[in-house]
Amino acid sequence: MGVIGFIGLGNMGGPMAANLVRHGHRVQGFDLAAASREAAASAGVTILGGVAETASGADTLLTMLPNGAAVLAVHRELAAIAAPGTLVIDSSTIDVEASRHAHALAEARGLLSLDAPVSGGTGGAAAGTLTFMTGGTERAFAQAHPILQAMGRQIVHCGGPGAGQAAKICNNMILGVSMIAVSEAFVLAERLGLSAQALFDVASTSSGQCWSLTSYCPVPGPVPQSPANRDYKPGFSSALMLKDLHLAQQAAESTGAVTALGRHAAELYERFAAAGGGDRDFSGIIEAIRKEGRG
Ligand code: NAD
Repeated sequence: MGVIGFIGLGNMGGPMAANLVRHGHRVQGFDLAAASREAAASAGVTILGGVAETASGADTLLTMLPNGAAVLAVHRELAAIAAPGTLVIDSSTIDVEASRHAHALAEARGLLSLDAPVSGGTGGAAAGTLTFMTGGTERAFAQAHPILQAMGRQIVHCGGPGAGQAAKICNNMILGVSMIAVSEAFVLAERLGLSAQALFDVASTSSGQCWSLTSYCPVPGPVPQSPANRDYKPGFSSALMLKDLHLAQQAAESTGAVTALGRHAAELYERFAAAGGGDRDFSGIIEAIRKEGRG
C-alpha cells in the first residue's frame, strides 16, 4: 500500500483519516489547527509541517477543506509538488466551478484527480459508512475506489470532473426543501389537533414519505434517533445546510436553471441562521416555522 497525504483533518477529515489508518494505510497529514493535528496524531496519522511536506512522497492526496477558496489554494500548492501520476481526491463540498478548476490544475501537471464529496456527516465519517459521489475519469475512479472503501459504504461514479459536486448540491437541495415541507406539515397538524404520531404513521406509509420524515423526523417521538429527540443538537448543522443551499443557488444562477423552492429554502435557512440557529441541527427549522405562526 502506498502513502496517503491528507490535508484538512477537522470534524470530517479527522475520522476519515483515522479509518484509513485502521485499514492499514500509511497516512501523513496536515491541518492549520493544532487541535485537529493532535487528534489525528493520536489516531495514528503522521503529522507533517505543511501542505508541501504532506504531498512529498505521497501516491495519493486527499483534501477535506471548508470551501472552494481553501481547496484551490491547497491544490495549487499540491500541483506544484506532487509527482506526475499522483492521485488527488477532494472530498470537500465546494462549488462545481472551483471543483473543475482544481481538476484542471491537476490535469495540467499530469496528476489524476477526482472530486468525491460525501454525505453521511460526522457519524458516517467515524463509522466509515459515508456515501461518496465522485467525478473524474474512469481511471481516477478505479484507482480511488479501494481507498474510498476504507471510509465509505456507497461509492458512486457520477460522471466527469465536477459531477460529484453537482450530485451533492442537487441532493442537498432536495433535503433542504423536503425538511421544510415536512416541518410545515407537522406544524399544520399541531394547529389542526392532529397528533405527530398519527401524521407520521400516515405520511410515512403514504405519498408524503421521504427521508426527512422517516429517518430524520423534525418532531420528537416518531423516530427516536432523530436530532429532534436531543434538542436539535447536530447531526447536520443549519450552517452547513445553508452553505449547500447557497452552492445550489450559485449553480442555478450560472446555468440559468429555475429552482424557486431551492431559493426559498435558502432564504428560510438564512433567517434561521441569523436568528441564532446556525449551530443547531437543520431539522430545528421547525421551531422557527412554528414561531412564525399567528396566535
Ligand atoms: P471543519 O471546519 O471541521 O474542518 C476543516 C479543516 O480544514 C479545519 O480543521 C481547518 O483547520 C482545516 N483547514 C482549512 N484551511 C486549511 C489549509 N489551507 N490547510 C490545511 N488545513 C486547512 O469542517 P468539516 O465539518 O470537517 O467539513 C469539511 C468539508 O466537508 C466541508 O466542505 C463541509 O461542507 C463538508 N461536509 C461536512 C459535513 C459535516 O457534517 N460536518 C458533512 C458533509 C460534508
